[in-house]
Amino acid sequence: MKKLIYDIKVEFNNLNKKSDEELQVKIEKLKNQLKKETLEKILPEWFAMVQEISTRKIGLKHFETQLLAGLKLHEGQIVEMKTGEGKTLASTLPVSLNALLMKGVHVVTVNDYLAERDQKWMGKIYQGLGLTVGLVKSTSTITEKKKSYFSDITYVTNSELVFDYLRDSSAYNLNEVVQRPFNYCVIDEIDSILIDEARTPLILSTSKGDINLNKLYLAKAVAKLLKKEIHFQLDEKRKEINLTEEGYKEAKEKLGKKTLYDADDPWILEILNALKAEYLFKKNKDYIVLNNKVLIVDEFTGRIMEDRRWSLGIHEAIETKENVELGGGTKTKSSITYQNFFTLYPKLAGMTGTAKTAEKEFQDIYNLEVVVLPTSKPMIRKDLSDLVYQTELAKWKAVLKKSKECFQKGQPVLIGTASVEKSEFLSELFKISNIPHQVLNAKPENVRRESEIIAQAGERSAVTIATNMAGRGTDIILGGNPIFKVKQKLSEILLEKKEKNLQEYESFTNKISQEYEETGNLEKLEFDISNLPYSLETSLPSLKDFYNSLYKEISITWESENSLIKSLGGLFVLGTERHETRRIDNQLRGRAGRQGDPGSSQFFVSLEDELIKVFGGDNLRRWVDYLLPDKDVPLESNLLTSSLENAQKKVENYNYDLRKNVFQYDDILNLQRKQLFTARKEILCENIYQDFFLRYAESFLDEELMKILTKNEKKAKGGQIFYKYQLEKWLDNYSSYLPSKEKKILYCELWISNDLRFAESNFYQISFLKNTRAIIILSIIDFYWTEHLERMSYIRETINWRAYGQQNPLSEYNIEAFQSFKLMFDQIRLCMIYYFLKNPII
Ligand code: ADP
Ligand code: MG
Repeated sequence: MKKLIYDIKVEFNNLNKKSDEELQVKIEKLKNQLKKETLEKILPEWFAMVQEISTRKIGLKHFETQLLAGLKLHEGQIVEMKTGEGKTLASTLPVSLNALLMKGVHVVTVNDYLAERDQKWMGKIYQGLGLTVGLVKSTSTITEKKKSYFSDITYVTNSELVFDYLRDSSAYNLNEVVQRPFNYCVIDEIDSILIDEARTPLILSTSKGDINLNKLYLAKAVAKLLKKEIHFQLDEKRKEINLTEEGYKEAKEKLGKKTLYDADDPWILEILNALKAEYLFKKNKDYIVLNNKVLIVDEFTGRIMEDRRWSLGIHEAIETKENVELGGGTKTKSSITYQNFFTLYPKLAGMTGTAKTAEKEFQDIYNLEVVVLPTSKPMIRKDLSDLVYQTELAKWKAVLKKSKECFQKGQPVLIGTASVEKSEFLSELFKISNIPHQVLNAKPENVRRESEIIAQAGERSAVTIATNMAGRGTDIILGGNPIFKVKQKLSEILLEKKEKNLQEYESFTNKISQEYEETGNLEKLEFDISNLPYSLETSLPSLKDFYNSLYKEISITWESENSLIKSLGGLFVLGTERHETRRIDNQLRGRAGRQGDPGSSQFFVSLEDELIKVFGGDNLRRWVDYLLPDKDVPLESNLLTSSLENAQKKVENYNYDLRKNVFQYDDILNLQRKQLFTARKEILCENIYQDFFLRYAESFLDEELMKILTKNEKKAKGGQIFYKYQLEKWLDNYSSYLPSKEKKILYCELWISNDLRFAESNFYQISFLKNTRAIIILSIIDFYWTEHLERMSYIRETINWRAYGQQNPLSEYNIEAFQSFKLMFDQIRLCMIYYFLKNPII
């Protein structure tokens, strides 16, 4: 490593004397070299080149730690670098290097804002290197997406990336496919995506319309009659509910059913879901109700997960509980977990400020190493030990008092809360106490302003309430973010025209309106302003002048504010609850102490907090009771802090097991998914319908013949479908041949039929016929795949029950999954043969 870094430095010193033109020649030379040599060979020269181009284009020269991070990312590891250390810039090194292979590189971020910011910001470097860079947004059209995915480098959010993959995997036309095979991927905020979000699979659904409302309402009514402990048991830790013997009987009787497992009319899922909806899923914590919809709130980030639905009917059960319109009526067309999705990349790397505590999980599930890099400037944030209160009330009083102190002193304070509900509660409290503040939680009206709120959270006297980790990726600058301020002022003056002293800036504004009007492009003005500072180079000179002048003006005040706030101790981060995982707490803490800034952090907790109630154990409580005679006086002790951390470790392990479970189950599905998607791709991409069909038909014949010859079994298993498609008539016609060993005759018949079909195509355009065929095959596949997934989720949800006490549920599931998959294939085959032999195609 040292040697490499040294080589890069030497190379850099050569480069910075060269002219722009000379650099371009060198870039071409390096690219050409790749025809014979490996990436590793040109790495030092290339990294130095990126460093030089970056310095020239955006004025940032990669620090040594960023070079180191670049090397690690290139090796496919996870780099832990604290917030504000410059991960965005570090990633340009390996990303551009790997892009030279021309197979595409994906850079994944947690939200649209960051994807766009980073694409524009870093885009200048890539352009300078002669590489194309694309941005995929949820609002992009198919054509736009294709172009972006076919760029050398693509910036995209995690969920869009996965949904595009799922959509591609169910496309009916090659033109609709937007992605190409995966190559290398760098995930920003990797723990947020691969761990926090890994518990709910991503589901592409299709409407089914035959949702049984009565059933849902009946289940809800029955669930309300069941009593906790007597009829069912709650496992809050695992988010599981089990019916007791008695509960099972009770539910059965109330419904007037003999069993809840009747294959034609199963009830078990509905009952369990109704119970879960009632007792395990909490409004304003796990979900919010907005515009007559139930929206999931990510438990870790506090973000609303739009387009996501809880699977297995839970979402519908909650909708029923809340009496809102059933949004779904959907069934799963395709689904995948983040775990299985990201392992599709031959090379994967990631970066975040908080990975170390989840090291084992990254290693076990993703086979990714974690390396922790030092900060470039020493970190001087003070992490104070927790203050523990006996009651929640006492805790909130203390939070209020502390916030008020900070506010009056001028020190900015960021208050982290565990749920939307708590953030709103605190906001009310502050309103009553006349403390001006900003709230950042999952509510959409706040999310839109997320980066802006965070960017100004470091201003004098700023009080910001945020649910956990909201605003990842935007760093808090002490004294506020001057660029944001300039932009704000620009848009107030130029677009909203509401600045008080408009005359003061008249000379600028006149020039701007003149220049932009002359080019006849007022829309461009809006565009340029909203894309500053990245649009600075391409803006008209008048806007550029104004920007620079305002920037100068604002910088002067910013500098004095910045040093004032530093003297007040920097940002104070106040946690109001320990989160289930230490990682999230660290994320919150990491908001302060950016790039060597002063700052401090402290958690205010109470014995009535969820974490302590569920996992803390009675010992802790007794101990605190003993040591704490006065309710309002907190206990502050390192011992306590460490026993809280132990509780967190316990929960982390629990959650890890849960995710591992999700992973193991999805892994079984994953093999099937790969097979199916590959088959589908082949059908889409190549002209193999004829062969494909023949292969299927032949294997079908073999099997059916075996059955008939041995046991005359054709009416048995699978016979129903057989009957449905009236295939036996077709077979019967040939039964006279059956005693003869010559299957060949049947084969011939098949081949002839097939040839005749293709002969038909002489009348039509061949591509038309092929397309029609492809579409039929694909729709047959999709239909049965969806059915298979439905069966699988039913099996998944009830397997613990059925395998109770005897087998390992996972291996039971495996067996059933295989059977179901086989059934699916048989059905697909049968159905296809039916279409091609019985039905005229056109
Ligand atoms: P992170 O993602 O690690 O939290 P960012 O990539 O958002 O951090 O960068 C934080 C800030 O550091 C940005 O404002 C950026 O301009 C600045 N920065 C990053 N790298 C450098 C560098 N090499 N020299 C100067 N400033 C840098
Ligand atoms: Mg970042």
